[in-house]
Amino acid sequence: MRVAIEGLTVRYGPVVAVDNLSLTIAPGELLALVGPSGCGKTTTLGFVAGFTRASAGRLLFDDRDVTTLPAQRRNIGYVFQDYAIYPHMTVAQNIRFPLEVAKLPRREADRLVAQTAELVGVGGLLSRRPHQLSGGQRQRVALARALVKRPGVLLLDEPLSNLDAHLRAQTRAEIRRLQLELGMTTILVTHDQSEALAIADRVAVMSEGRIIGLDTPAAIYARPLSLLCARLIGAPPMNIWALSDPDAGFPKQALAPVLEALGSAAARTVVGVRPEQVRLGPTGLPGSVRLLENLGRDVLVHLEVAGSQVRALADPEVVASLGPGTSVGVSVSPASWHFFDADTAVRIEPPGRLAPDGVVVREEG
Ligand code: ATP
Repeated sequence: MRVAIEGLTVRYGPVVAVDNLSLTIAPGELLALVGPSGCGKTTTLGFVAGFTRASAGRLLFDDRDVTTLPAQRRNIGYVFQDYAIYPHMTVAQNIRFPLEVAKLPRREADRLVAQTAELVGVGGLLSRRPHQLSGGQRQRVALARALVKRPGVLLLDEPLSNLDAHLRAQTRAEIRRLQLELGMTTILVTHDQSEALAIADRVAVMSEGRIIGLDTPAAIYARPLSLLCARLIGAPPMNIWALSDPDAGFPKQALAPVLEALGSAAARTVVGVRPEQVRLGPTGLPGSVRLLENLGRDVLVHLEVAGSQVRALADPEVVASLGPGTSVGVSVSPASWHFFDADTAVRIEPPGRLAPDGVVVREEG
């Protein structure tokens, strides 16, 4: 089923929680809504579920206008962070509950409960009660309850935030597998950008009630269209400097030919580079190591270069000889820099094309 939100505005008194938002989710697509706390993610999801009263806007399922359809008639499954399963019911009763409400014939309900429990991996736990389950198992029961009616749309609001890191990674992959298997149109609200990048077909970045970036995980990571997208997406986060700031010595020196081409606009430019694009080695600007953070596969190296604090993600072998106070060359391939207008925070492209050696190639005509 295709879900289309058209011109959604939600006001709570003077607060504009969602501001004229339009968004279409394709049939079978998993779309992640990410953004800082209070940006309107839950409110938007609530509108699709039928819990949020809109000040303006329409909701379409395929071509059907369902804006005024009551929540229980929308054929939606949802898992909310605090939407706990019923403690006095067994797992089977919990999963079955939506079918009871829908007054499904008993045999059909039995079949769907058993099938869905198997699907999410709680088939062996049907007679247990919630207090006899782990957090991850409870979350699966909540998911099974959301899926048992085979809803047209699945809404997930921070469904994994109560789980520890290991279980979160495992469960998110299972959610994705189920979602693909059932071909279900899904909206996932999360504050965890890595979760969004990992399993979504597209990521919508929200800020102050609006969508400020919407693209595939790969595209939004490689080419963030605004400074906020650049800050929010990617872990560890991008190194960012306003060129007018006194601590921008590193980008100013590294980007000298580009800044010359930018002329007076350079002072109104913000630049960024992802930590994995910062190279350490014998060449480059002289940097001094401040701190090494071991992240497992990589090491995050905190450096000071030309008065700037720089974070570089490096291979453990590359940094084996480094420690606090040691010196190392720091360089960035010119094409790895991102440029933003300091006033509008919108992505800009530097003048001309950047050759790999950092020389600005001016486009003719
Ligand atoms: P979080 O990540 O913290 O859950 P969110 O992006 O989901 O945040 P929403 O819950 O949609 O944000 O809230 C958007 C804005 O609307 C916030 O400023 C919030 O304070 C406000 N808001 C939400 N619900 C209500 C309500 N019932 N009454 C008044 N204001 C509300």
